[in-house]
Amino acid sequence: MIPSGALVGIYIGGASVAIRETGMMRAILHSAAERASRYLDEIQERRVSPSAEAVVALDALVEPMPQHSSDAESVLRQLDELGSPATMGISGPRFFGFVIGGSVPAALAANWLAGAWDQNAGLFAATPISAMLEEISTTWLLDVLKLPAGCASAFVTGATVANFTALAAARHAVLARAGWDVEAQGLFGAPAIQVVVSDEAHPSVIKSLGMLGLGRERVQRVPTDEHGRMIAEKMPDLSGPAIVCLQAGNVNTGAFDPAVEICRRAKDAGAWVHVDGAFGIWAAASPELAHLVEGVDQADSWATDAHKWLNVPYDSGLAFVRDPLDLRGAMSLTAPYLPQGARREPLMYVPELSRRARGVEVWAALKSLGREGLAELISRNCRCARRFSDGLRAAGYEVLNDVVLNQVLVSFGDADRNRAVIAAIQEDGTCWAGPTLWQGRTAMRISVSSWATTEADVDRSLTAMLRCAGAA
Ligand SMILES: *Cc1c(COP(=O)(O)O)cnc(C)c1O
Repeated sequence: MIPSGALVGIYIGGASVAIRETGMMRAILHSAAERASRYLDEIQERRVSPSAEAVVALDALVEPMPQHSSDAESVLRQLDELGSPATMGISGPRFFGFVIGGSVPAALAANWLAGAWDQNAGLFAATPISAMLEEISTTWLLDVLKLPAGCASAFVTGATVANFTALAAARHAVLARAGWDVEAQGLFGAPAIQVVVSDEAHPSVIKSLGMLGLGRERVQRVPTDEHGRMIAEKMPDLSGPAIVCLQAGNVNTGAFDPAVEICRRAKDAGAWVHVDGAFGIWAAASPELAHLVEGVDQADSWATDAHKWLNVPYDSGLAFVRDPLDLRGAMSLTAPYLPQGARREPLMYVPELSRRARGVEVWAALKSLGREGLAELISRNCRCARRFSDGLRAAGYEVLNDVVLNQVLVSFGDADRNRAVIAAIQEDGTCWAGPTLWQGRTAMRISVSSWATTEADVDRSLTAMLRCAGAA
């Protein structure tokens, strides 16, 4: 028994290290909560990108591996004082880079609690709560994303690994149908798999195909139209084991590949259809946008992110596979020391063995938003994107895309001028958006994906953008 209030020490070379003191944990967690709340208040008004001075000040962190212990509060203080100013204001309301959402309050708080739990989410018996929340969240996700009930799910780091995981299930299934056990025999001597992607496939899909031995370059690429959508008529004939990768939400324009037509053709040929819907698939959750995902539910697997549009903390991605046996076939792992019960065992569906309990935050976000809150979040972000494009067009600037979702591509002139204006907007600090290249043209890319963004934030950001563009 450790007496209450006692200090328990371990002794290393004569130095005493406090490892457990009643009240110490409480004090440091309160301090973290206090500092985090202050940070989130300040981020409402602070410049979005960190100042140059704050980045330079990070040099103070550089030191040899510390010889002696430090108390937790001093570690946290240093992290906050040097670290917080050097963050990008991603969790604030005026960050519009890279389709990065913020964190809804319940999801952030759940993330902290789950950190305290420190669960290893592999097995039901090892952590019933996180396994249970993955099960419940899966049912809810399939419901709001309008995907077939009964799909298997994988809670992974992001859409890159979700694409990899789902495509591993695809590889398993199309080769199993051809009489080949790819998990046992590998790809040497296997029947060839025809892989079809669009010219606009996200690089993470291409990378996943490379990691799966399907080749980054041996894929067949289908041309896209001016919105970045795959042209269905240009799809090659499919035969033998085949995988077709669709996109729901182009990372530049937000456009959707024509899923109805492509799924029909793929199904007729017995091919597997995978959908990269990292952010776009969340359109299904908004009644006014759900038409965009028409046909997407006909696919065999899907990849998406929770850390983007569901607004849970990083990192959190999701893969869904229509037939659970295909995902288990690709991902299962057994060992005598990992006893499996009758419940869904999370480790059977993911590449990892040890893993943090991502289902906790996904559950908390869905529970706190509800169907209506989620629909409102998605719809409002898309309304805000249209507000951006209306304001920029009214000021005489060219919007390069059809603003069907939450993405706006604006050009302020030629490439040099776009670079100058984007640099000025980032330096101004009121908001943040990054550059892109769309069909050969340089543009600024605005992604609205945070629960924290309001119409007032859009107006304030527009004013800053127009001021910078006028002066550049
Ligand atoms: C963001 C994104 C990815 C990659 O997702 P990560 O979470 O960064 O791994 C893949 N596809 C699309 C369309 C994306 O927008």
